[in-house]
Amino acid sequence: MLKTLTALIAGAAVPAAGVAAGEFPLKKSKAEWKRLLSPEAYHVLFEEGTERAGTSPLNAEKREGTFLCAACANPLFASSAKYESGTGWPSFWQPLPGAIGTSTDFKLILPRTEYHCAHCGGHQGHVFDDGPRPTGKRYCNNGVALAFVPQGTALPALRT
Ligand SMILES: [Zn+2]
Repeated sequence: MLKTLTALIAGAAVPAAGVAAGEFPLKKSKAEWKRLLSPEAYHVLFEEGTERAGTSPLNAEKREGTFLCAACANPLFASSAKYESGTGWPSFWQPLPGAIGTSTDFKLILPRTEYHCAHCGGHQGHVFDDGPRPTGKRYCNNGVALAFVPQGTALPALRT
């Protein structure tokens, strides 16, 4: 079980082979994304912005369901992996298999691991090593970059 989980996580942390930064299954110009998204969502998703802590209603979302990329509707996290980190950002200890890719950014001088939607490349947040068991990871996500679909409601189709 642990081995499987570790493999899953390792798989999720490495971008799929051949998917370089800026090359994703769903390709849209910045202008197009700007037209489709709210200014706040666009800033986080496609300019690697960070929302102010405590501002997302999804912080308090406790229902069972799925968290999707707000840009393309790719399912990123199950509610079962969400936990209260106390940071003011929706936090998860594990993404869905293959849902995200990672890169290293140096915005705060020290290297941080950025992660993004593997389907559209939209920036979601950063991953840290101070999360709860079993993974020890904390996926610190911008709420504005997510959409929540409660269990029992059909997931929307991926954006094309
Ligand atoms: Zn996406």
